[in-house]
Amino acid sequence: MSNNQKELQKTSSRKESNKIGIMGGVFDPIHIGHLFTAEEARMRLNLDKVIFVPCLQPSHKRSDLVTDIKHRLKMTYMAIEDNPFFEVSEIEVNRSGPSYTIDTIKEFREIYGWETDIFFITGADAFLEIDSWYKKDELLKLCKFVAATRPGYDLNKLNNNFKDVLQIMEIPALAISSTDVRYRVKNSLSIKYIVLDVVRKYIYVNKLYF
Ligand code: NAP
Repeated sequence: MSNNQKELQKTSSRKESNKIGIMGGVFDPIHIGHLFTAEEARMRLNLDKVIFVPCLQPSHKRSDLVTDIKHRLKMTYMAIEDNPFFEVSEIEVNRSGPSYTIDTIKEFREIYGWETDIFFITGADAFLEIDSWYKKDELLKLCKFVAATRPGYDLNKLNNNFKDVLQIMEIPALAISSTDVRYRVKNSLSIKYIVLDVVRKYIYVNKLYF
């Protein structure tokens, strides 16, 4: 069964959506900054839902430095569980090779058609590198982008060329980062209130990031 068929099977209401957010990230691990970003984007843009898409193999990172997808995926499912407007898609998990955003958005376009507005939500630092993303020009025609930043971020860094397709969202909770969560676990510092409790327990039970 193709990825698209699996996605369609997951919920019959999918076709009814006409404004969706695709929350792309490595989520190593997912933290409250990600969750707040998704919820804020949903509210501000009036999205029908936000679909979290954990990246299997980041195209710009060494895959051996990223935690096994089985853990990242489980933590993502656990973290979104109590929000009826959030979903997880395994679209990138089921596709081998580097996880190029263009392939993901094309698959979502096939599922939702052109009548649905698609917003790809990610970190501003990730968006800053868009010039190096695979088939960037084609990608910019397929969806709009939301770049999430922490307050105080130098917005001049985000090129004016993208103003028609890019919205910038300042998110106080993005003072938190996955890098910091990993550092804190490694150095026996608390991660309580930075990640959801289910995720915190999962990290300790599975001895991640030690
Ligand atoms: P990254 O470079 O590791 O992240 C840069 C910054 O953005 C970090 O501070 C990160 O914080 C933050 N961030 C990442 N995703 C976020 C999200 N959804 N919401 C809020 N902040 C976020 O970026 P990445 O996570 O590897 O990649 C982000 C997305 O862009 C992924 O879906 C990836 O596949 C896509 N991407 C695609 C291409 C391509 O198609 N060629 C190239 C690069 C990235 P945390 O570390 O705390 O998450």
